[in-house]
Amino acid sequence: MSENKGAGGIDATIEAAVVRARDAQTGWSALSFRERGRALHALSVRVRQDEELARTISAETGKPLFESVGFEITYLCELTRFLTGSVGRRALRETRRGSLFLAHKRARVSWKPRGVVAVIGPWNFPLLNNFGDAVSPLLAGNSVLLKPSPHTPLTSRRIQTLWREAGLPDGVFQVVEGDAEVGRALVDACDMVFFTGSVAAGRKVAAQAGERLIPCVAELGGKSAMIVLADADVQAAAHAAVWGAFAGAGQVCIRVERVLVEAPVAAEFASRVTEETTKLRIGISADADVGPVMLQEQVDRCERLVADAVARGARVLAGGERRQNLSGLYFPPTVLDGVPADAAVASEETFGPILPIVAVADAEQAIGLANASHLGLSGSVWSRDHARALAVARRMETGSVCVNDVLVNYFFVGAPLGGIKSSGLGFRHGAESLRQFCSPRTIVEDRPGFGPVAKWLRRQLGFPYRKRVFDVLRWLLKVMYR
Ligand code: NAD
Repeated sequence: MSENKGAGGIDATIEAAVVRARDAQTGWSALSFRERGRALHALSVRVRQDEELARTISAETGKPLFESVGFEITYLCELTRFLTGSVGRRALRETRRGSLFLAHKRARVSWKPRGVVAVIGPWNFPLLNNFGDAVSPLLAGNSVLLKPSPHTPLTSRRIQTLWREAGLPDGVFQVVEGDAEVGRALVDACDMVFFTGSVAAGRKVAAQAGERLIPCVAELGGKSAMIVLADADVQAAAHAAVWGAFAGAGQVCIRVERVLVEAPVAAEFASRVTEETTKLRIGISADADVGPVMLQEQVDRCERLVADAVARGARVLAGGERRQNLSGLYFPPTVLDGVPADAAVASEETFGPILPIVAVADAEQAIGLANASHLGLSGSVWSRDHARALAVARRMETGSVCVNDVLVNYFFVGAPLGGIKSSGLGFRHGAESLRQFCSPRTIVEDRPGFGPVAKWLRRQLGFPYRKRVFDVLRWLLKVMYR
């Protein structure tokens, strides 16, 4: 794209896309919430019916068709259903607010779309973290320029086709393909950015947005801990750990990145996890559970992390070496036991099919290790004692926590989901998320019939300042704010 720079320094293609997006946004934002909701619902019906879409997701990521349909397409339908409903409508409705100090006045608060939002997505979920993240800004009345990862552009291309076929307004949703340079140009040209990706790129995007003083939502990496307490249902926890760590070949932001298990059940837990892991079917056939990883650099990272952990005393209970007998990039689901705290895999985001298990003395140590990370995206706590699990969950420094489950927090679209610490800024989901893509507009006016009172008060409180009014003010301060 670099030879394509326009006179204003912004790539000409992006400049043209932004102009189209701005033109289209005027009409789109003038529609009612219900009308925009109907349009997005129509698209989600096409997404559900389209045979090609799930195949495209699987073809460009290697993930099983089960996950393309069960995770990505189901998610989009559920998200659209929730946000276009009455909760979403209420979140963006104009409301009136009162004031004790200015009891004769009221404020009208409305939510104005920000304009053109850049949605920049990763490769691991080409639908869910790409068009999926465009749904809120679109519903809030913005137009969206979506930049998918250069590794997975085909799903977004297919959505653009479905958008057109559904007869939805031209220019409101556009796909702009390209690499990080195109992403940077988008951040320079748009009114807001919704970024999902690595911590390193997220920092750059947030800094660039900060320079322009435009809002930035950043959904970044994680090192989510699964805490298994001694009174947990160990069989259920082990089963969930295997799914939570190896679904999507471990390329899931909120995946189980590490298990912290209380010593009395650590051996049983590790043995059950190993047994289940060795049964997983690997490949891209219709009945496979775990597909390939996406990039060579991930295979290299997995090898480096396993070698480092083993050199520091960890034991490989399953997997551990790249698969040579399958064509494609395969790193087998790998279980590591006895992982010391100084091993890189204990603190660095793996984002691949490795599950490190660490035995801990008690819940206090587990919470301490879980919170020692600079990341704070997700986590889970396992115990038969619900109150105890809840107490541990409340102390975990993450954006969300599951009790006796994993991964499902992503599908709980009615509740905000985001990272804290280096895992990001802002959040997705929940009706509250719609307001992030708007700026509030407050109009202060006299309450009906209170015009003369307002006029009299303005005279009392304005110039020239008078001693008598000042004394009343001081008395009021004492009485009203006791
Ligand atoms: P990445 O940061 O390499 O790329 C993400 C997107 O940003 C791509 O479209 C890329 O082209 C673009 N990009 C890169 N640098 C940019 C820049 N300076 N300016 C603008 N755009 C830029 O991430 P990835 O490898 O595609 O995704 C994997 C990472 O994403 C993992 O760390 C994972 O945890 C994280 N992730 C987080 C969530 C979440 O919701 N928190 C969801 C999915 C993935």
